[in-house]
This record gives sequence, structure tokens and C-alpha cells, in this order.
Amino acid sequence: MNNLKILFPVLMIVFLAITFWSVISLKVMLSFVDKDQIYKYYQIISAKYYENIESDQVSDTNPGILSSQSLYDVKSYKLDFSFDIQQKKIIGTVNMNSESLSDTLSFIYIDLAGNMNVNSVKLNGMEISHFRVDDYIAADTKGKLKLNESFDIRIVYEGIPENKGFDSFSIKKFDDEPAIYTLSEPNHAKTWWPCKDVMTDKADAEIIITVPEKLTAVSNGLLINVSDNKNGSKTFHWKTSYPTATYLVSLAIGKYDKWTDTYTSMDGKIQMPVEYYTYPYLTEKAKYDWKNTVEMLKFFSDYIGEYPFINEKYGMATFGWVGGAMEHQTISSMGYTLVTGNGKYEDIVVHELVHQWFGDAVTPATWKDIWLNEGFASYGEAMWVEHTKGKEALKNFMKKNDYSFFMGTVYDPEGFIFGPTVYKKGSWCLHMLRGVTGDSLFRQIIRTYYDEYKYKNADTYQFQKICEDITGNDLNYFFNQWIFTGTGRPEYSYSWKYEKVQASDDLYKVDLFLKQNQDDLEVYSMPLRILFKTNTGDEEITVFNDSRSQQISHSVKGIPLDVIIDNDNWVLKKIKKEENN
Ligand SMILES: [Zn+2]
Repeated sequence: MNNLKILFPVLMIVFLAITFWSVISLKVMLSFVDKDQIYKYYQIISAKYYENIESDQVSDTNPGILSSQSLYDVKSYKLDFSFDIQQKKIIGTVNMNSESLSDTLSFIYIDLAGNMNVNSVKLNGMEISHFRVDDYIAADTKGKLKLNESFDIRIVYEGIPENKGFDSFSIKKFDDEPAIYTLSEPNHAKTWWPCKDVMTDKADAEIIITVPEKLTAVSNGLLINVSDNKNGSKTFHWKTSYPTATYLVSLAIGKYDKWTDTYTSMDGKIQMPVEYYTYPYLTEKAKYDWKNTVEMLKFFSDYIGEYPFINEKYGMATFGWVGGAMEHQTISSMGYTLVTGNGKYEDIVVHELVHQWFGDAVTPATWKDIWLNEGFASYGEAMWVEHTKGKEALKNFMKKNDYSFFMGTVYDPEGFIFGPTVYKKGSWCLHMLRGVTGDSLFRQIIRTYYDEYKYKNADTYQFQKICEDITGNDLNYFFNQWIFTGTGRPEYSYSWKYEKVQASDDLYKVDLFLKQNQDDLEVYSMPLRILFKTNTGDEEITVFNDSRSQQISHSVKGIPLDVIIDNDNWVLKKIKKEENN
């Protein structure tokens, strides 16, 4: 018994020491994990990847309600917001002008998070009854709306938005001043404003924002008025006449410095403002980091087609999200940690700008098509590198985009729609398409796709059709293996031998034995550039490899020294050269 009495405090001390050590080391470990992840966000993923969003979570909307939402088409929103900053509360009035697409539209379903309080719902100025179903308002029209009838729904509401997804609604502080910002992608606009939160129903928008007078409120489109309310507050009135998906409507509010550049439209007729808004402590750094924006606008307008929102603006505003940046239409939100003053994250400046064409002007039809946003914006980064630094830099950039493993397919990345498969392999799909079609047809594809679908939505099949129309080729093999079905890549192995061609002075016949060894698909079909190095120079040919085992014979001048497949890295692959026969 005595022994135990002595042992007990000793055991307690040992126990406490172990616990203390575990907690400390766990904390240290976790802090490394955090830093590593943050490093990855910026270095590798580079844009939004803060949280994995299940693609089915995006489409978990009640199918009955979704089909009844398809019975009206929203034409424009007029949003009027003020805030109780202390309570982190939004107070809003939203007017939604729509057209009825049915004679039997008895209830209008509008998305709004269930925790928000609806004070009144009016139809064409008359109070109507409504009830709540989950994250919807069901407004009772009593069957009064007829086919093609235009109608206004006005909702007065308030509440403390639940911050969902990446960072759908936040009120924070920067430099001791309040900062309010939103990031609704993919389907969290409804956490802070009532809307038909479906990205295929784009609408024009007016956004009217009342804030304490020392703050600036930034949003989509043009600033048409600022009024001083003589009560310590100011009201900023923004308006966009371009169709905008709900997830691209943005609030960026803070104590901002503002400065402006000018972009001249390609036809020389429009001087478009390029506006920058930064938390004051970041202004000098941002002036350096964002200095090439107008040059980028010129380059991409020239390559793809005129900047889509040329009658309004392009802008960037710092915001408080630590995961990256977000391509809000006409006004990208840039994470404050991405402003470093040494241009380190210029690829993200490019990325968000390219989204104005792909993502914003051309919006995906479903979230399965998200690579049409992210793959394109990521390949835009590569094109800017090529434009400013040359071909070798492009080659190295694409090597960096090649993770040795990608989860799932580009079309179905097994739940991770904002992960490397969509961003990086997506960019590789475009790079390979360019390798298949050549530069000139590739550019024609990009321009036609943009021109045909701007201000609308497009899906992967529509993009494929444009590729096929322009090239005149059936590209099923390409889209199946790289986007819809293939989860891997070709794993080539090859060997070669040569012999002198009889009755010639300097001709040698090379026999190349090429195999594919991957498991995910029996065969990847791709044109392959094959470089023959001889003692008199180099020669490159292109062959179409479409079998698991293929022999290629080719005669070259000079004694063959080496054979290299895909020297310029146009194919996502693994490759192994075996001992020569
Ligand atoms: Zn992006």
C-alpha cells in the first residue's frame, strides 16, 4: 500500500510530462502541416483549393424545386445592402425581375439560406404569402402569372450569414478597419442574398451598398453613383449590364486605396478603366505586383477576342480570403497574402484575368464542366509565361503542372472539383489539344469557342464539337482518353536499332519499337513527335501512335546517335528508353 502511495505522485508527474510533450509536439506538427498546405496553395494549386467540395454537394438541390425554378428566367437583380458590422449582419432588399416560362407557375422558389429572416415578399408591389422549405423561399403567386409575363419579386430580409464553402460571406478587420467580402462559388450566393442560385440563369445586376463613410464598397460593373448620406454613411451604386452568374456577384468592402490604369480596346474606340483597390498597407506592393495587368489584357484580348466586359471595367480588390483569389466578374478578389511586392504570384493575376473570358463570359453549364474554367485559366498562366519568357519557359511550366498522379478523370475528379485534376490536368488537356491541332487551329478553336458562347453557358460536349468542326477531325479518342474516361497517362517504353541502307552513301534505316504499358486504358492514341539525332544533324517526324505495340521505320541521313520521343513535351506521359536492340 505504501509503495502505491509513493508511486502515485511519480506516475502522475510522468503522465503529465508525457501529455504536455504530446500536446506541444502535436501543435508543432500541426503548424508545419498548415504551413505546408498554405505553401502548396500558393505554389502549386495557386488558386482556390482551400476546401474540397464534393461535386455532388453542388447538385444536391431538391430536384422538384430545381425543375420548378426552370419555369422562370431571371432578367435582372437589384440588390440593396447595409450591414450591422458589430453583429456581422446583413440587411438587404432584393428585387428580382423575371419572365414566366409557364402558364402554371403557382409557386416561385428562390434560394436563400434557411437561417436568414425574410420580413416580406412582394409580387409586383403587392405583399404575397410565402413559406420556407430548407434553403428556399416559396412565394405563392396564386397562379396569377401567365406565360412570358414579366414580374418583379421583392424580398426584404436580414440575418447573420453562415460562412459556407470557401468563404461565402465574411466580416473581418484589416489594419483595424472593417472589411466585408464574399466568395460564393460554387453555390453559396444564397448564404447572403436571395437569388435563383443556378449558374445557367445569368442576369444583369445593380448592387447598392451602404457602408460607414470611411469605407469603400466595390462590386461588379460600373460605379454609377456615390452618395453621402450625411449620417456617417455612404452609398455606392454599382451596375452591370452584362449577364452575370450568381456566384460571380461580389462585395469587396474595406478601407481601400484606389488607383486606375487604362486599357484601350483593340479597335481603339474605348478607353476602359482598370481599377485597383487595396488595403492601404498593401498599396505599394500591389502597384508592383499588378503592374502588367494592362499588358495582359492586350495579350489575351488579341489571342482570344476582345475583353468581354469592355464597356465596363476590369479591376482587382484585395480581400481577406487566405486560400487564393476569385474571378468575380469585372472585379477579381485577390487574397491579401498574395500581394508580396516582388511579383511572386503573377500567375494568379493572369489566372483570374483569363477567367473573365472563361468562367465569367463563358460559364460552365454544369459543375462537371468546371475544367472549362480552371483548365483554361491555368493554361492562360502557361501562355503568359510563353509570351513573356519563350518556348523553353513554357516547357518548364508545363512540367511543373505535371503532378505524377491525378485523382479521377478531368470530368469526374472523384469529388474534388477544385483540385489538381481539374486545374493542372485540365491545363494539360489544352496543351495536348494544341499539340494535336497545331498553334493556328488551336487558336481558332479558342476564339470560336469564346465567340460562340460568350455571355452564355457551355459544356464539354459543345467545346468538343467546336474542336471537331474547326479541325474537321473526329476527336472522340482525345476527349475520351483525356477528359471523360482516362485516369492515367500513356506509359511508353521504346528501343531502337539501325542499319545502313544498301546502295546509299549516308542513309540509315532506323527501326523504333514502341510499347504502351499503362493499366487504366488499353491504348492512348496520340500523335507523337520523334526526334532522330544523327552525326549530321536532327530530324523530327510525327507519327500517330494508336496501338499498344508499334514498330516505326524511318530512314535518316547520317549515323543515328539517339532517338527521342516527344522532346518538346506535348504529351502527358511516362517514358522509358530500353537498351537498344
Ligand atoms: Zn481559377
